[in-house]
Amino acid sequence: MRPNPSLADLPLRPELVGEEPYGAPQLDVPVCLNVNENPYPPTTEIRRAMADAVMDVTTRVNRYPDREATNLRWALAHYLGHGLTIDNTWAANGSNEVMTHLLGAFGGPGRRALTFTPTYSMYPEYARNTHTDYITVPRRDDFGLDGRLVLDAIDEHRPDVVIITTPNNPTGTSTSLDVFEEILAGTDAIVVADEAYQEFAAHPEDTALRLLSRYGNLVVSRTMSKAFALAGGRVGYFAAAPAIVDACRIVRLPYHLSAQTQALAEVALAHADEMLAKVDLLRETRDEMLTRLPAMGFEIVPSDANFVLVGRFADRHAVWQQLLDRGVLVRETGPAGFLRVSAGTQPEMEAFYRALAQIEDAR
Ligand SMILES: *Cc1c(COP(=O)(O)O)cnc(C)c1O
Repeated sequence: MRPNPSLADLPLRPELVGEEPYGAPQLDVPVCLNVNENPYPPTTEIRRAMADAVMDVTTRVNRYPDREATNLRWALAHYLGHGLTIDNTWAANGSNEVMTHLLGAFGGPGRRALTFTPTYSMYPEYARNTHTDYITVPRRDDFGLDGRLVLDAIDEHRPDVVIITTPNNPTGTSTSLDVFEEILAGTDAIVVADEAYQEFAAHPEDTALRLLSRYGNLVVSRTMSKAFALAGGRVGYFAAAPAIVDACRIVRLPYHLSAQTQALAEVALAHADEMLAKVDLLRETRDEMLTRLPAMGFEIVPSDANFVLVGRFADRHAVWQQLLDRGVLVRETGPAGFLRVSAGTQPEMEAFYRALAQIEDAR
């Protein structure tokens, strides 16, 4: 082959031809309200504890890390409660690797994953990378789900894995435990409740974790990237029956969680109350968007997460661009005519409201 080949010269998998690397734009902008991060970094004290923990693991950095992430998984089990142990918990390099493990174990060639749209834009990537067929069924007009809708879709499409995001990204819509019970009573497919934003819900205690002891096919997926203010640490995790954890242990790469990742996450979990201290404030910031945006003449979708869909814009890309021109980055995603805005700090929110009010053609 000639030096410096183009992609077309390489024996790329056929289904990847023409694909672009996907992800939210990472732009250097004063106000980033685009990827639902917690805008508040940890305290100096916690950061020092993180630095000390990383320093400590470097004494053994010539050795491979704990492949089973024992201390981290115990800490996650304790954080979740509900009588869970290390055998019920799994952790990986962000939810995206967790989901890839689940689809690697339960999806794969000739298998199907079912989701309900609009929903998280990364799921099709995980499906493609694990050679899993990706099937979508629309949510109701209010973006909610009910047992009948989901069970009918399961009957029709016979999925191996069903992913239900609650609160849903990008709509913020929660799915009640009653609906989960109805679904779980009607299927033996793996049902993943992606609760990435559960800590921000009006009733975070209404978590699918409460159903785990009764349904062996349920997986409750969480992340440290959102409420836990550890997006840079890259830790996602789930709780499920031990056999589901064992299945993921088969497909994971050896030593998939680095020593420093485990150390950072353990420090964060040891300071869970402080790491989560801003969640109440972010919930208020979200609620303020839900009242203030309609008062400004915009439409919103009621949200249980740390972001809000706002519209309806005749040309949402133009509005996105004009916000960006004013130093405010939001996300162009979700139903036509809407933009998704994450709950930021108070000054960031004021900058957003000010910028939006200035855009002539926003209404
Ligand atoms: C942000 C998000 C996650 C978390 O992803 P990480 O890889 O853990 O950062 C998972 N699910 C949904 C629906 C999300 O929006």
